[in-house]
Amino acid sequence: MITQESIEALKNQLDIVEVVSHYIEVKKMGSSYKACCPFHQEKTPSFVLNANKGYFHCFGCGVSGDSIKFVMDYEKLNYAEALEKLAQIYNIHLEYTEKAKKSDDFKILNFMNEYYHSMLNSEIESYIKERGITTETKKHFELGYAPNNFEIMAHLQRNLINLQDALNVGILGADIENGTKRYYARLTQRLIFPIRSAQNKIIGFGGRTLGNHPAKYINSPQTKLFNKSQILYGYPQAKESIYRLKEIIITEGYLDVIMLHQAGFTNAVATLGTALTHEHLPLLAKGEPKILLAFDGDNAGSNAAFKAANLLSIANKEGGVVLFDNGLDPADMVKNGEIEALKNLFNAPIPLVDYVLETILSRFDLNHAVQKDNCLKESLTYLHQLSPVIQEEYKTWLAQRLNLPAHLIKTQSARKHFAQNHSTQNLQSNQNSFCSLAEKIIIKSILEDMNLLDFALNYLEPKMFYSEKLAYQKLLQGDLESSSLIGILLDSKIKPQNKENLKQQIIMILYRYYNEQRKSLLRNPSLSLREKSFLIRKYQKYLEDLKKGDLAIYESISSF
Ligand SMILES: [Zn+2]
Repeated sequence: MITQESIEALKNQLDIVEVVSHYIEVKKMGSSYKACCPFHQEKTPSFVLNANKGYFHCFGCGVSGDSIKFVMDYEKLNYAEALEKLAQIYNIHLEYTEKAKKSDDFKILNFMNEYYHSMLNSEIESYIKERGITTETKKHFELGYAPNNFEIMAHLQRNLINLQDALNVGILGADIENGTKRYYARLTQRLIFPIRSAQNKIIGFGGRTLGNHPAKYINSPQTKLFNKSQILYGYPQAKESIYRLKEIIITEGYLDVIMLHQAGFTNAVATLGTALTHEHLPLLAKGEPKILLAFDGDNAGSNAAFKAANLLSIANKEGGVVLFDNGLDPADMVKNGEIEALKNLFNAPIPLVDYVLETILSRFDLNHAVQKDNCLKESLTYLHQLSPVIQEEYKTWLAQRLNLPAHLIKTQSARKHFAQNHSTQNLQSNQNSFCSLAEKIIIKSILEDMNLLDFALNYLEPKMFYSEKLAYQKLLQGDLESSSLIGILLDSKIKPQNKENLKQQIIMILYRYYNEQRKSLLRNPSLSLREKSFLIRKYQKYLEDLKKGDLAIYESISSF
């Protein structure tokens, strides 16, 4: 562990502008610094740095934090690794309390990785060679071999590995037989592919049978370290290329990844026998690469490609689909030396939206009016989830393909699209947006002058806030590094106010809140008419006082 003293010494040196400039281009604009956000795609900079406060914040995607957070996010490192990276940049020596103890889980997984690797014998080696894998590639991807159950169990026991611990990390499984637990190795007589996390730690294994086992591939089960639907096989090996090329190739298999890397496509990764899911999106957002889906052309593959293209295009990702036909997969093509053909395929993917629409179209018989109508409906349901610009782009395309006049292809306006995707903001009235601004002004003023907090607390509870409830809560908890607070702090449009001017903002918030309360009273079925009229008069009085500029100390409904 790094000592607290040296963490503090490092933190004192950190300059957010310097740190961010180390990675991306930063421009000085007036008194602040701006850049195009490295965490989402944009052409006009909304990524703001505040040198005095030491924070960054993106007004486009909402990320924020300090120098350490930036390095963690940008380099995909954990806290300690980010500190080490920064110490390197600033040429500062870090002190450690003791050799950082690796958790036992990683110890067992590393131990097994070495063991599997050491079990490669000439028979396995010749299988590897036969598949076209070179010695170098074999080492780069740390291929290994899992022998039979008896040998693995004996090896674990010889090395005094706790079997329950080995079960917890997915190396072993267990049956209960006559009341006793019987452990067994999950992967046996298989070629082993160690699976590393984005942080390059072994978290599981994949195994390909070398016998006649009906399951060709088996992975480690889901464990606390290994979440199949977040992980991409080969990511640590591909990471650098993904950032450099701004492109990632997603395949369906270990061998595809390995062979593509061997052929120079070092940005290839694979899903782990699962579909591409929402949980993969954070990893795919890193470096903002274009996403190529390199899937099998059979039914299962093209269905998976359809789902993935759907998911990615709705998430506003750029990319395309490449399907491999005639039973060939990328691994076969590399083995056959068809590198040029592969290059051509990767250079001409079917764009994601085209692929989704083509697939929808292919499911209907467009010679029948009813089917054509259904096809149009399904296409529009999909299209309406995309941005208005993309909808417009595909309007003519769809009209042509369906042989329909363009006015029948109804796109959704930007406002409607926005409203649909932000339904809570649908009802946003002018009054509410004024309140939202007032809330931000109050929070910013307190951030600049903590003495104002007591004043605000006299009147305002988090529940009275309309849009900045969370930020106000964080403020009360003293969690000043939360991104909602940093966003307000760095927003130059929000001007902090003194105590006297804050009164006006507080009144605005209270007015909206009590007015809402009054309205909800009317709808409350559990109150008698008498109670209702009493409370409504009480609220009415409050609201009138507020209109006159009278700030009453807050009373909650329960105290009425
Ligand atoms: Zn951003």
